[in-house]
Order: sequence, then structure tokens, then C-alpha cells
Amino acid sequence: MNTTTQSCVINGKQQVEVISQQVSYQGEGTLVRITRGGICGSDLHYYQHGKVGSYEIKMPMILGHEVIGVVVKSDDPALKEQQKVAINPSKPCGSCKYCLNEEENQCVSMRFFGSAMYFPHVDGGFTQYKVVDTAQCVPFPADADETVMVFAEPLAVCIHAASQAGELSGKKVFISGVGPIGCLIAAAAKAKGASEIVCADVSERSLKMAEKMGATRVMDAASGDFTAYLAEKGYFDVSFEASGHPSSIQRCLDVTRAKGTLVQVGMGGAVPNFPIMTLIAKEIKLVGSFRFTHEFTTAVEWLATGTVDPLPLFSGEYRWEEIDAALQFAGDKQQAAKVQLTF
Ligand SMILES: [Zn+2]
Ligand SMILES: [Zn+2]
Repeated sequence: MNTTTQSCVINGKQQVEVISQQVSYQGEGTLVRITRGGICGSDLHYYQHGKVGSYEIKMPMILGHEVIGVVVKSDDPALKEQQKVAINPSKPCGSCKYCLNEEENQCVSMRFFGSAMYFPHVDGGFTQYKVVDTAQCVPFPADADETVMVFAEPLAVCIHAASQAGELSGKKVFISGVGPIGCLIAAAAKAKGASEIVCADVSERSLKMAEKMGATRVMDAASGDFTAYLAEKGYFDVSFEASGHPSSIQRCLDVTRAKGTLVQVGMGGAVPNFPIMTLIAKEIKLVGSFRFTHEFTTAVEWLATGTVDPLPLFSGEYRWEEIDAALQFAGDKQQAAKVQLTF
């Protein structure tokens, strides 16, 4: 079976176009009609800089990894036509040592939607029709709000980050940097029973979002008074650094109590003068967090059941033909948090 599909393709820095392609479904996997997708920081990086870190766009690539859709045809009889599904953008190999140990996010040959990590690049989900592995399809109820369900991927990232800190129930939590990811970490920490969730950012708009997403207190990162959180070698059991900014990492180390945990989620460049003495002397556990594993299914459940309401982060939607305008709006951090495309 052959279908024509219109795809949002990036060719390089600030070069996106909609092109017509052919999708061929041979009965293996699941053919999905994509209905909606969220624009993520990595899509924006590819658009604004032509690369994410060292992963550079070297050939046309379909953008997007936060998509939902409906089943057209599947090799799994349980996935009926018209079943709504959130699509897990990760496709691990299933056979490397990490995959065998249920650490699929560390797979040595991960094929993640819309990623230029490998050459040829892995196409993303901003297209009308796509064949995916059946295991990538996570069904959700027909009456769930689709705008909400598009948040499955970023929420999965944040549930994973929260798990990296261990048990959060009754814990005092600090989040530095509350863009969409910081805000969803606040929501995940709340769902996991954190007793206090204090969020800091330089943007008043972001702090307002954080308040709606579960923060018990918000503070201006530049002008706020953090003195009370510095006493007795720090106040918070767990800090999440979600901005990638060197000064934010320093702040997190300062306000985290001795023996506490700092989860690094924000991706930044090099950190000059990393405060390694603070880390050593306070015996802080520093742990990275990258993507997610089984948390994707948890995220779909939490969104479908209303455990987390991500809508304070939703800033608007565009038709897929307007991908250029959508990326420009999404890139304006004064106005936009999460922007979605409809197909
Ligand atoms: Zn994302
Ligand atoms: Zn693997």
C-alpha cells in the first residue's frame, strides 16, 4: 500500500519546507496518520542553528518527535483502525547491553525521531503518514484531549528526570529554570509527592507557568533572596537544573543540602570554573538525565487520567503548512512555551 504524505523537512539553518513524499506500508509495523505534534527545543535548535550540539543537519530531515495520531493499519490485531496512539519517538535496537538491561535510553544504536545524531539522519514525525514499530504506539482513549496528549514525550523526559533523584515523596525540591521542561518536572515532582517545590527563573512569565504547574513558591533567579536556603549547608533534598546555564548550576549546588542530589537536565555548553569543591565538600550526588525508557507509557497514563495538566504550557497551534511561522513563534521565548502543529 502506497500513500502520499506531506512532510515538514529541514534542509539546514532556517531552511524548512513542506515536501510531498511516498510512504509504503508492506504489512509490517503500524501505519499511523499523524494528527498533532509539539515543537521541542531540539526542533528549534535545528531551525535556528542548523544543529543541536555537534549533531549537524547534513541532509534533508523530517522534524519532530512529539507526535500523536490514529492507526490506519497495524500488524498487531489489538491495534484497531482509528485507535488513537501517542508515538514513542525512541526506537532502541533491543539487543545491545543497555537494551538487555532495560536501559534503552542508553542504547548504542538508538534511532530517535528527528535526530541528526547519525548519518543518514533519522526522520521525525512532522508528516501526515508514517510507518512506525508497533511497539512505539501507546494507545490512549478516544475522548482524551489531544492537545494534552501531545505532551507525552516531554512529560516522559521529566518523569525520568524525577526518577533519577530516587524517592521524592516528602522531599524538598528546587528547580532552576522553568521553561516547559522545568515546569513539567514541577508537575512530576508534585505527582510523586514532593512536600515543597521551589522554582527559580529570570522570566516572570515562566514563573507564572510554574505556579500553575505545581510550584509551591517561585523566585526571581536574579533578584530573589536565597539566603534562607543557604543556611546549614543548604535546604533542598533534591535540585533539578533545567536551564543549562553555569550560574544556575552554581545556585543548585549552593541550595542543595549536604548529601543531597542534583539532577542535571538542562543541556548547556562547557561550564567554566565548575564549583567542584562545593560538590566534594557537601558530598552532593550529581546525576545526569537523558530522555526516558518505560516512563513514556506512564506519561500517557498521567495525561489521559489528568494526573498532570500540561495546558498552562500550551501557547498556540499552527497548520503543518505553516511550519516556518510556527517555528518562528515557538522560538520567541517572550511569547511562547509549547507550540503545536495540526495535520
Ligand atoms: Zn521533546
Ligand atoms: Zn540497544
